[in-house]
Amino acid sequence: MSESQTIHYPQDEVHTFLLPVTNACSYNACAFCSMYAGEEFSPVALSDIEAELKHGDTYTERVFLTGADPLQIGFDKMSLLLGLIHQYLPYCACVASYASIRSISKYSTEELSALHNKGLRDLYIGFETGSDEILKLMNKGHTAADAVRQAKKLNEADLSFNTIIIYGIAGQGRSTENAAATAEMIMQFRTRRIITMSLTVFPGTKLKQMVRSGDFRPAGNRERLIEVKTLLENLDPMTPTMFDTTHPTNILKIKGSLPQDKQKLLAEVQKRIS
Ligand code: SF4
Repeated sequence: MSESQTIHYPQDEVHTFLLPVTNACSYNACAFCSMYAGEEFSPVALSDIEAELKHGDTYTERVFLTGADPLQIGFDKMSLLLGLIHQYLPYCACVASYASIRSISKYSTEELSALHNKGLRDLYIGFETGSDEILKLMNKGHTAADAVRQAKKLNEADLSFNTIIIYGIAGQGRSTENAAATAEMIMQFRTRRIITMSLTVFPGTKLKQMVRSGDFRPAGNRERLIEVKTLLENLDPMTPTMFDTTHPTNILKIKGSLPQDKQKLLAEVQKRIS
């Protein structure tokens, strides 16, 4: 990895053993994203990954694969990689990773199940929204139907995942409708956790240009909070699902398990709106 390349990981993985698998993002086209701007995508050689693992603490229990979308490397390399982790870190019970709807679509349910059996146990996936119109506007590269299809495959393979969504992403005046579409999407699959982020307009992004030209008007904080409330109101998962707004971009930081804590979470959002 060159000096200029950045490593991003979820806040919950801050103490996890980080294993570089890919550099930057193979897609690099989402309108709101500047994470890997100007950086070139490349997979890390297995020999380099093995060298990294040799320096790991034998008693490591969790590993996070870094890169925007390590699953891009394909089933065979992923299997070898998980085998290496097991060889050098035999106590590792969970390998976690970012993943995209596009990369998951390259795997069959059987392959995902095999990866799960080899230790891949927790994915962080950017669903962003359940609105096709907004997914297209943000050039996300998948539709809501694609997202549901791939999520159901993961459910079948028993591979658990976190659903990352962005409120405010639909812009001013569209938040309630966006929340309803996102909840409708999420209610079609099982997810371990819903992680919310509030839309940030980063310099150098296509979104920033859209804001400058007046083609996109960011929603205000009150509207964003109403979006969170609408989302919560429309979520009634059949299995316990963590609802987590503790990412630093959020206006309000709350966390609880759905459906059990739904009324408590709603009351906290309502209090902030009032
Ligand atoms: S949001 Fe993810 S997939 Fe989209 S450009 Fe950024 S890193 Fe790549």
